[in-house]
Amino acid sequence: MSNKVIPLLDLKAQFKNIKDELTQVVTEVLESGNYIMGPYVSAFEKSVAEYCGVKHAVGVANGTDALLLTLDALGINKGDEIITTPFTFFATAEVISQVGATPVFVDIEPDTYNIDVSKVEAAITDKTKAIIPVHIFGQPVDMDELMLLAAKHNLFIIEDACQAIGSEYKNFKIGSLGHAGAFSFFPTKNLGGYGDGGMIVTNDDVLAEKLRILRVHGSNPKYYHKLIGYNSRLDALQAAMLNVKLKYIDSWNNSRIEKAEYYNEKLKQLPIKLPCVKPDRKAVYHLYIIETDYRDELLEYLQKNGVSSGIYYPVPLHRQTVYFDLNYDVGSLPYSEKASNGTLALPLYPELSIEDQDYVINTVTNFFYEKVM
Ligand SMILES: *Cc1c(COP(=O)(O)O)cnc(C)c1O
Repeated sequence: MSNKVIPLLDLKAQFKNIKDELTQVVTEVLESGNYIMGPYVSAFEKSVAEYCGVKHAVGVANGTDALLLTLDALGINKGDEIITTPFTFFATAEVISQVGATPVFVDIEPDTYNIDVSKVEAAITDKTKAIIPVHIFGQPVDMDELMLLAAKHNLFIIEDACQAIGSEYKNFKIGSLGHAGAFSFFPTKNLGGYGDGGMIVTNDDVLAEKLRILRVHGSNPKYYHKLIGYNSRLDALQAAMLNVKLKYIDSWNNSRIEKAEYYNEKLKQLPIKLPCVKPDRKAVYHLYIIETDYRDELLEYLQKNGVSSGIYYPVPLHRQTVYFDLNYDVGSLPYSEKASNGTLALPLYPELSIEDQDYVINTVTNFFYEKVM
């Protein structure tokens, strides 16, 4: 047993590095007297739009609302079907149900854990209105193939880019390829705030305008209501701090990529499946995911030896209690179920030291030599 404790993610280490810049901008916002929306939010929206190479960015309260307001703005409602992946955070499907539509789950590719685009067309019916691809763990989905399908069947593509800010597909930023892209600034995301936050990016002028109205109770101007909307605004404090952090996102993401490649190199002789990134993509490793038949034993062994790891996600969405009425039996989407049973996230964050990473690598290696090989 060791005294070492290596977390899955260390937000305090990152804060220490940018503390002065953050506290300065927090003071500015507090002195401005303007705490919800306002110039700090507009400035951050402009930065994100430029970063992603899109015309519009609309700040909202969180990533879930970014998806929800987009579905609403596109007119998705009762009776519609929306195709998505079951191997994602619950919010992706939850918003589909919240607007009264039905999620239709398509299985994932076993190598990237993303929706298997080659299986999507078979799931399209005359009720299908949109597809929500999720760039899971920061790994880009096959967007070209998906956009072709969307054009052929007249569907909207809403990218759930909540885990993928900075990821690229053929040199385009993830989020900018579909009709709209949704980002989350939940603290643990690659670009995380100090509370909740979210954003929608789009090149569609009409959609952007409708989202700006929906987020403030459907009003424009204030107190003149055109739509039933939401209270879903981005705080000035979050926007100001996120705008400071956006300057560092590429260097943080690149540091994640370097450390992921180091893991790949050091773990490749073990009987585990390592992350796979296709050649024309940049994946920003929101999480570093390995897969093994000995997942639960490995997790326990790591824990005993001071290494935190995490299961994302233990139950695929088609097998969640709330979706039993959709009638997806055990075995109906086998790769998603296999991923839920076999994947594990290892510690990965820009501030992870080489010593700590070597300790994780040695602990994983020892597990396989002691227990398996
Ligand atoms: C985090 C996340 C969301 C939701 O974002 P919140 O800001 O927590 O509402 C949606 N989809 C995916 C894939 C996520 O990882």
